[in-house]
Amino acid sequence: MEAMKIDFFQEEVEELKKKGLHRNLLVIESAQRPRVKVEGRNFLLFSSNNYLGLANHPQLKKDTKKAIDKYGVGAGASRLISGNMILHQKLEKKIAEFKECEEAIIFTSGYTANIGVIPALVRSGDLVIIDKLCHASIIDGCRLSKAKLQVYPHRDVEALEKILKRSDKKAIKRLIITEGIFSLDGDISPLPEILTLAKKYEALILLDDAHATGVLGKEGRGTCEYFNLKDNCIIQMGTFSKALGSLGGFVGANKSLIDYLRNKARSFIYSTALPPSVIATSLSALEIVKSNPRPRERLWKNVNYLKKKLKELGFNLLNTTSQIIPLIVGDNEKTLRVSESLYQEGILIPAIRTPTVPKGTERLRITLMATHQKRDLDYLISVLLELGEKCLLNP
Ligand SMILES: *Cc1c(COP(=O)(O)O)cnc(C)c1O
Repeated sequence: MEAMKIDFFQEEVEELKKKGLHRNLLVIESAQRPRVKVEGRNFLLFSSNNYLGLANHPQLKKDTKKAIDKYGVGAGASRLISGNMILHQKLEKKIAEFKECEEAIIFTSGYTANIGVIPALVRSGDLVIIDKLCHASIIDGCRLSKAKLQVYPHRDVEALEKILKRSDKKAIKRLIITEGIFSLDGDISPLPEILTLAKKYEALILLDDAHATGVLGKEGRGTCEYFNLKDNCIIQMGTFSKALGSLGGFVGANKSLIDYLRNKARSFIYSTALPPSVIATSLSALEIVKSNPRPRERLWKNVNYLKKKLKELGFNLLNTTSQIIPLIVGDNEKTLRVSESLYQEGILIPAIRTPTVPKGTERLRITLMATHQKRDLDYLISVLLELGEKCLLNP
């Protein structure tokens, strides 16, 4: 019996390998920065979400060590029992201020935020409508909620309106979910248009600002700041794990909704609070984002430079307007080969293949950091050009 079960999983793994979909873990032997060590070799990293370079920032490390000395390394219980330490309170206040919301609630990750908040907001009898390119954590949250799920084509507000119009009287509650910056295509949500529809059809919006927090808007507050939108029907979700270099998810909204989530979001209630050290890291990161615009400015400078160069060379970058730059190769095997060739040249960029992305849009997903140097970008460009000349890429 036991042996049979194990054989089953082995067969599944073999199947993945046959399809070229099996994945292995890369081991990073250094701190997270543009130059990392893998198997004793130096690589240029172009696939990290550590956009502002804060994951290895001296001030964050210092503040985190201080918090460990004062508060220890574990929270000991969930927030509602006895794990709610003064630092958690402080961070919730700070992130609410940063997102210009009345209040905020922290989760242990962005993933657990989404799988907690969505089932708390909608349930059976309700309707949840998501963009086709929404993240797996959003899809999982929707499935857990048991609400009716409808998907609209990427950034297609007309299709969204059709769904809303048709649903009008049937659904008890309607929730629209969009990302701020989309994690695969790097483009920005048409949030102003979505907000207009939300008002017209009395829907709520859950904005997943995982990739926009710390990056988008004059002060890095995210997609709402970028569009200059402030509205109670936009519930702002985000994560401390990307541009903020730390760990933890959050949701910002009005006071009563946050109070409701503290009492209803299961991934908040039934999971141990983040350790004080991680909270201190996030507090320190927010302080830097607020007081120092330079990392953000450097990031955007890098984005504009690389995009301009790659476009001049004729590469297809879809409609990216952010630090996430998809470079379309257009075939699973070819994309994998390009990614492997880049590895040989000391560059880490993963191949994103079907079924993760639609057929024909298999791609390299390049992500930039504030801490990349111009020569790092120039090296990447030269290697991509070489691969283009070898007909592995089609610029
Ligand atoms: C990364 C990501 C998450 C999950 O955040 P974690 O803090 O890594 O768990 C959620 N939504 C989107 C769009 C993401 O890209």
